[in-house]
Amino acid sequence: MKKDRLKYFKKKLLDIRKELVGEVEKSRQYSHEEVDGDVPDINDDASRTYSRQVILELGEREREQIKEVDEAIERIENGEYGFCIECGEEISEKRLELIPYAKWCVDCKEKLESKGKNQQSM
Ligand SMILES: [Zn+2]
Repeated sequence: MKKDRLKYFKKKLLDIRKELVGEVEKSRQYSHEEVDGDVPDINDDASRTYSRQVILELGEREREQIKEVDEAIERIENGEYGFCIECGEEISEKRLELIPYAKWCVDCKEKLESKGKNQQSM
């Protein structure tokens, strides 16, 4: 991949990262408020527990995504970006446009999915 394209994707990845980190910070703040809430509402207990769980799950998914993004940025630094980590084939730029942190080509991704592995990863 050409240098300017790499730069372009790196910027994209950094933007995604910024957004994700912002989300995580926000949800962390929110759960902090939940814990320190000074007006306990007994009737609302179930829904409070539920919403806290949703926030935690959301945070985990985001953290996972941040990891993917970080790995992609690392691959840019190492000059490995844009190649499938499974078969070594180039990943189409169209796919990278959609998922800049994609690490598998479409074929391998499908194979992995049919095996039921790595469902979360792109
Ligand atoms: Zn592949």
